[in-house]
Amino acid sequence: MAYREKKCRLCEQQAQEVDYKDVNLLRGFVSFQGKIINRKRTGNCAKHQRLATRAIKRARFLALLPYVGDQ
Ligand SMILES: [Zn+2]
Repeated sequence: MAYREKKCRLCEQQAQEVDYKDVNLLRGFVSFQGKIINRKRTGNCAKHQRLATRAIKRARFLALLPYVGDQ
């Protein structure tokens, strides 16, 4: 294994949903290029990755997160 298995961060917080306004949290799920990091790297479970992806897309739409980080 290249990196150790991590427990889903959002499960640890017992998050029922991901707030699109929680930019600090969402930043942990996007790369420097502003791309959404895949589930293997974030260690998120499928449920929370789906919620995180949705929150990131919403945050992008509202310009809270960049579509492209490196311009
Ligand atoms: Zn989870």
